[in-house]
Amino acid sequence: MGMFDWVERKPVKCPICGQEINEFQSKDGFKKLLKLTPEQLVEDAYRMWGEIDVEYYGYCDNHCGAFYYTYNRKKREWKEEFLTNEDLYGPKES
Ligand SMILES: [Zn+2]
Repeated sequence: MGMFDWVERKPVKCPICGQEINEFQSKDGFKKLLKLTPEQLVEDAYRMWGEIDVEYYGYCDNHCGAFYYTYNRKKREWKEEFLTNEDLYGPKES
């Protein structure tokens, strides 16, 4: 029983602290801890869910935020987006 799959792609650098991010996960495939290329993930997501858009993400170890990659099935293109922790979880409580 798994919770997500790994997505293998080239590492990216956190735009805030410069830390290399090299672990990416997705919950849109079979969620069996498979190691997938983004293309394989798109294929698995189609077999699992049909015509959905697909997402995977990689978090910065320093809790700056995360890169999100979303695949638009209609346009057949990937979009890269960096979301800060504030984008993800709202303003910090202090
Ligand atoms: Zn960072």
